Amino acid sequence: MMFDLLVKGGTLPDGRVADIAIAGERIAEIAPKIAAEAREVIDATGDLVAPPFVDPHFHLDATLSYGLPRVNGSGTLLEGISLWGELREIATVDEMVTRALQYCDWAASLGLLAIRSHVDTTPDHLNTVTAMLEVREKVKDYIDLQLVAFPQDGLYRAPNGRENLIRALDMGVEVVGGIPHFERTMAEGAASLADLCEIAATRGLRVDIHCDETDDPMSRHIETLAYETQRRGLQGRVAGSHLTSMHSMDNYYVSKLLPLIAEAGIAAIPNPLINIVLQGRHDTFPKRRGLTRVKEMQALGIPVGWGQDCVLDPWYSLGTADMLDVAFMGMHVAQMTHPDEMARCFTMVTETNAAIIGLEDYGLKKGAKASLVVLDAAGPVDALRLRPARLAVIAKGKVIARTPRADAALSLPGRPASLNRRAPRR
Ligand SMILES: [Zn+2]
Repeated sequence: MMFDLLVKGGTLPDGRVADIAIAGERIAEIAPKIAAEAREVIDATGDLVAPPFVDPHFHLDATLSYGLPRVNGSGTLLEGISLWGELREIATVDEMVTRALQYCDWAASLGLLAIRSHVDTTPDHLNTVTAMLEVREKVKDYIDLQLVAFPQDGLYRAPNGRENLIRALDMGVEVVGGIPHFERTMAEGAASLADLCEIAATRGLRVDIHCDETDDPMSRHIETLAYETQRRGLQGRVAGSHLTSMHSMDNYYVSKLLPLIAEAGIAAIPNPLINIVLQGRHDTFPKRRGLTRVKEMQALGIPVGWGQDCVLDPWYSLGTADMLDVAFMGMHVAQMTHPDEMARCFTMVTETNAAIIGLEDYGLKKGAKASLVVLDAAGPVDALRLRPARLAVIAKGKVIARTPRADAALSLPGRPASLNRRAPRR
């Protein structure tokens, strides 16, 4: 038997050491030692071999536009929304495609091979949708791009908000989005969720709502989302993104809310880099972190994944497309520092995110898509600590990116001539 590609001797996230044989676009075999020949061999001895990173929450139509038409002076979510409102009227389809493809290059080089991106469906011209559908097609051999119809300025608050969302779905956008806390009243926010869940149920689609992205503890749209999810039989297909108001909610109310979310089979997608910079901006001190209750939800079996949300756009002035940066920040803000919790943060940006967005044939197992990443780290926790080079990125059986090892050369008397910064073995 001649395989196309053999990744030898890598350490899998669960600690097993294994060879991975690839035939065509699929993983043909995973075993401690595979003796067969292959057209190409990658020696991953001592390195971490993981399934690809998955981002369940991004805005690809706005990415890499930082400073256009000008910088967000207040640093708030609301100024970001208003800046973006100007930009989407002047940005051409070609400019948005160019920026998005550049971001996808970064993602590919870092082993981020599946992205769920919200696409603004507010403007009548829907240039954002046209551009992102083009990008989805262009990157499909190496990135699974899933698009969410996102009524940024409100389903009811924006003129034609609802019609344009439906038009985007008709054009081929595959997930239903919403923003209840941005509608004019609490009641309209709740009504928007009933409407959106009905649209999703009728069309057989998934739902991902920008839900309660505010410091207002009375923003309780997640409760309505759980109710509508259950009523429409959408369990397992709905995600609540951000859920930052939960940070500030009354503890007694949360003790009732979390079991409702678990019952409804809703997943949560906090976006730690963005939540930590946008929330709490109206506070003096103490200043709230605005991250939702991650560990508390996980304790009840609610799937929680980390999302990137923004890179160099009206809302966030930094970002790299590295999901390890996202998990690293999440780990700190949620204080997930026990070894099991740190390892879970790595799982969140791989397996958990893949499950939340419904990726098929994902993971390191026989028959799955042959997509994986070789990292210059000994294991998942070390990968989080170092955010190291992606030595090789394989997408559907093809090596699409390589980065050299980043050992330092030292000139110090009596000290080693070269080093990496991996943690000492215990
Ligand atoms: Zn978002």
